[in-house]
Amino acid sequence: MTDSTSRNGTPSAFGGLSIAMVDERQGAATATGGPSTVRSAEGRVDAKVVIVGSGPAGLTAAIYTARSNLEPVVLAGSAPGGQLMLTSDVENYPGFVDPIQGPDLMAAMRGQAERVGARLIDVDIDRVDFSERPFRLWARGTEYRAQAVIIATGASALWLGLESETRLRGRGVSACATCDGFFFRDREIAVVGGGDTAFEEATYLTRFATKVHLLHRRDTFRASRIMIDRARAHPKIEIHPNTAIDEVLGEAKVEALRLTDTVTGEHRTMPIDGLFIAIGYKPNTDAFRDWLEVDAAGYLVVHDETGSRIDGVFIAGDVHDHRYRQAVTAAADGCKAAIDAERWLQAEGITEAATSTAW
Ligand code: NAP
Repeated sequence: MTDSTSRNGTPSAFGGLSIAMVDERQGAATATGGPSTVRSAEGRVDAKVVIVGSGPAGLTAAIYTARSNLEPVVLAGSAPGGQLMLTSDVENYPGFVDPIQGPDLMAAMRGQAERVGARLIDVDIDRVDFSERPFRLWARGTEYRAQAVIIATGASALWLGLESETRLRGRGVSACATCDGFFFRDREIAVVGGGDTAFEEATYLTRFATKVHLLHRRDTFRASRIMIDRARAHPKIEIHPNTAIDEVLGEAKVEALRLTDTVTGEHRTMPIDGLFIAIGYKPNTDAFRDWLEVDAAGYLVVHDETGSRIDGVFIAGDVHDHRYRQAVTAAADGCKAAIDAERWLQAEGITEAATSTAW
């Protein structure tokens, strides 16, 4: 079993499609399609638009800005694709009669973005300087300069924070049922959480496990009614409300959980082969916190749909949205940010209206 970081760091994690991994040394290459306005010097790349993030928001922004001849550079992250890379069946993204696998959907979005001319680079950004234009972003030794930036860095899975959880990560503890469920064929496992993610993962894991225990610290759930009803009706799923995990037990691998009843305070041990953490997400804002506003939960604050407090820096997707958090809403946000960025660049006289493509 692998942990989600190494798993997503592999090129194969992107659905098997051919991905043009643009190496840093190819810095002088220009974006495909259309006359180049992406200029590169030694250790530096100049672009009209840099998009940070490659989930549905980032890639939709890439598709729209590329079709507007803005030749976007997408700093896609070392684990590109966003949260859908950790999702199995996607049934609620419009356009697919049958469920599509999350990684397949992201591979298609990436292929589409590259086909229309976006240049994707699979690096994490180290830091940014938004004090003046062009804005500057640094990633793995290269400086990226941009007249406009679209931040679409999304959110990452949360962990319980137990020492034993960290120690046994990849040895029975996972945050990705899609990636690791296969390893638990004919085993008994647990999922922690009370939201849609936990219920979705528990249901998915019944494909492999003999039994799935869903552990939640309260007796009411955030998950949608249909997900709860499906899980309740499933013969392999047992729901344990008012149950907190104190410790994951096992030396070399997960063997059991030490649990507490959050109402009675009683302790018990549950023998288990695997634990899937499904307790929500943290927005990926670390590189921007010195420059942009964050709310109480750590999400970026938007002004006027996709703007930030810095003119020319736009925000899209789950990095600010903790209300909807859907692939389709993130994609819509990426579209809006792209349109706003293009109009802003025109208004600033940085691009000519004539270069833009009809949306
Ligand atoms: P969520 O709705 O925030 O739920 C997180 C759950 O984890 C909550 O039940 C919370 O308990 C529990 N939790 C948080 N921290 C915990 C801790 N330290 N220890 C134990 N339990 C903890 O997150 P989510 O389920 O990941 O869903 C996020 C968003 O994505 C939602 O809007 C959801 O609708 C959406 N989503 C949709 C689908 C779908 O439609 N197919 C699938 C997945 C997610 P409390 O309730 O006690 O706070």
